Amino acid sequence: MSEPRLIDRIENRPLLDTRGRPLRDLRISVTDRCNFRCTYCMPKEVFGKDFQFLERSQLLSFGEIHRMVRLFRDQGVEKIRITGGEPLVRRKLERLIEMLAYWDDLDLTLTTNGSLLKQKARDLKNAGLKRVTVSLDSLDDAVFRSMNDVDFPVQNVLEGIEEAATVGLNPIKVNMVVKRGVNENSVLPMARYFKQKGYTLRFIEFMDVGATNGWRMEHVVPSRELVEMINREMPIEPVEAGYRGEVAERWRYVDDGVEVGFISSVTQAFCRDCTRARLSAEGQLYTCLFATRGTDFRGPLRSDASDEDIAALIRQVWTGRADRYSEVRTAETAQLRKVEMSYIGG
Ligand code: SAM
Repeated sequence: MSEPRLIDRIENRPLLDTRGRPLRDLRISVTDRCNFRCTYCMPKEVFGKDFQFLERSQLLSFGEIHRMVRLFRDQGVEKIRITGGEPLVRRKLERLIEMLAYWDDLDLTLTTNGSLLKQKARDLKNAGLKRVTVSLDSLDDAVFRSMNDVDFPVQNVLEGIEEAATVGLNPIKVNMVVKRGVNENSVLPMARYFKQKGYTLRFIEFMDVGATNGWRMEHVVPSRELVEMINREMPIEPVEAGYRGEVAERWRYVDDGVEVGFISSVTQAFCRDCTRARLSAEGQLYTCLFATRGTDFRGPLRSDASDEDIAALIRQVWTGRADRYSEVRTAETAQLRKVEMSYIGG
């Protein structure tokens, strides 16, 4: 079993799925818990006091995650994104970063809500993290507090972003989910602020992930509309995609070259180029954000499965992959019982 893997790596032959898509990125959720209750992601009514989160023993240990990353690298993965839940609520996360930073050819990054970044940015940088993406949906304190639904002030997130920049977690990217009737008015103030800061702001269309966020097409603000809105005030022009599988459509402001991106998973599906796999906090592997089922790796990791056995399972999952959910999305598929974003990792 190990021979084809080595040959593939030596010849740099990527592992392809049934649609010819290579495996390049792995997103790893390190916890299903979050200190925010964003209304579109982990609504309080569902993720309340009685919600049964994973027990510590159910989570993959750092050693298990490290082993998975090593085996995924052997299959061609070049980029790792640590996510959650809120990854910074996982204890001693810096330790995991340190373990993964051992491979310096790995593009290692992390997505966070920024609430703990001010305290943790320096340790993360020292541990070997290269850059961060911060999720932020408004600069308007009242709008932000009502969206995160735990009354968290926007100022603390902005300070976290500044600290990340100061310690060198660059380039900083900021992701904003736009929901019709909720934070559309925050689009231009966010664009102005991050343009002036020189950080890339990316707008994400509100998606029908999970089954609890009451998604409806009317809630989606199409990227086209945002491009026009921004372009009217601050002219922008398209930039070539950096690599196959890049999720954001990249634009830049004409006057200063600062970039701005649009992630249009609803109105312009990018399944054709999707090179991502996702590992949940308890070791289920998913090949689509909108999946209803995953493949268990924790069982094999905790039994006496060899590296070759686990590598073979990775290859089996990826070579059998046929999903293209966003391209076939309909009102009916939007109602499927898909796995929650907080569980699978955004
Ligand atoms: N807690 C971290 C954070 O806030 O970035 C990582 C996990 S969070 C699930 C990852 C990203 O998914 C966030 O940017 C969040 O806004 C986004 N997200 C969650 N639900 C979404 C939805 N229904 N549509 C679009 N983006 C969503």
